[in-house]
Amino acid sequence: MKIVFATGNLHKLREAQEILGDGFELVSPASLGIDGDVPETGETLRDNSIIKAEYLYEKTGLDCFADDTGLEVDALGGAPGVHTARYAHELAMMRGLPAPPDHEFTANMDTLLAELGKLGPDAPRTARFRSVITLIIGGEKHFFEGVMEGRIAMQKAGCGGFGYDPVFIADLYPDVTVAELPEETKNAISHRGNALRLMAQWLRENAPALAPIQRPADA
Ligand code: IMP
Repeated sequence: MKIVFATGNLHKLREAQEILGDGFELVSPASLGIDGDVPETGETLRDNSIIKAEYLYEKTGLDCFADDTGLEVDALGGAPGVHTARYAHELAMMRGLPAPPDHEFTANMDTLLAELGKLGPDAPRTARFRSVITLIIGGEKHFFEGVMEGRIAMQKAGCGGFGYDPVFIADLYPDVTVAELPEETKNAISHRGNALRLMAQWLRENAPALAPIQRPADA
């Protein structure tokens, strides 16, 4: 069964394909000649994942899914949440300061550490990543959610992963940041991995899988 995944990130596509297994063939919007970039104007992660999935469904008419992820920091009242990708940019704009581009990982992490630092050394640093997936199958929507619990480090460490990984310490690996974990270890515990595993289970139970796809290496 072919499913379109609303991402331009080949790393995410590979991770999702591994979790879904060979019975499902994931394709990117780009491989169908579609620009999958759509403004994320929703007020929640679920809203944004719906916007992205509906856009793709309208364009292709194919079964598809989209995800949206946010980092929720308890001491900041759940911020940056739905603003995670654009945190430094939006905060600077709000304060009338020169704004870095959105999706600027270093600026986002520095802003987060500075905002938490303002609360003093005793402020709780607990946080979690949350991913929401909207899957559209046969025109119907289904939702899946995954979290990774942890806390914000005092400083950046590690160079693996992406986004906020160098400042996030997962509860399951409390001695290192996620950026210091091997990719397979992160995928096995990550918010997105957990949401994808729930979706994979639902698909296996409810949607007809393909016969295993012949990949060049198997031929
Ligand atoms: P997206 O919805 O997957 O595009 O994620 C939104 C933002 O959350 C990204 O721009 C990253 O800053 C952050 N993010 C998402 N997933 C991760 C992750 O696995 N590790 C660290 N940061 C992440």
